[in-house]
Amino acid sequence: MKSDENCIFCKIAAGQIPSNKVYEDEKIVAFKDLNPQAPVHVLVVPKAHFATLAEMDEEGAELVKHALQTIPRIAAGLGLSGGYRLIVNQGEDAGQTVHHLHIHLLGGKSLGEKIV
Ligand code: 5GP
Ligand code: ZN
Repeated sequence: MKSDENCIFCKIAAGQIPSNKVYEDEKIVAFKDLNPQAPVHVLVVPKAHFATLAEMDEEGAELVKHALQTIPRIAAGLGLSGGYRLIVNQGEDAGQTVHHLHIHLLGGKSLGEKIV
């Protein structure tokens, strides 16, 4: 599995940097965002390193597929019975700051005004 020694999310996925994990299996890890934007704000992260969907290979696509299939269970475990929102920032205009693909999982309140 691809890894980048300078990448913070690779280090979290490898357990080299502590995080508040809410879910982990061999393909993905989910942990609480350091700077939460909602009562529940978790990052769902494939364990392979790639920065964006444009850089995703077949292995990465398998991990993202697995992430999407697993998110309902992660959300249920977090008590998000009222629903939740997923956000995947891609590149500069979207404000992506960590260049290891991740899915923001937000909920725990009515999320209100929407961009889409
Ligand atoms: P982006 O802006 O790239 O879509 O989101 C990156 C997210 O990662 C931000 O919401 C930021 O708060 C979070 N983040 C950055 N560094 C760390 C870290 O070391 N630990 C955790 N748990 N979250 C982080
Ligand atoms: Zn990485």
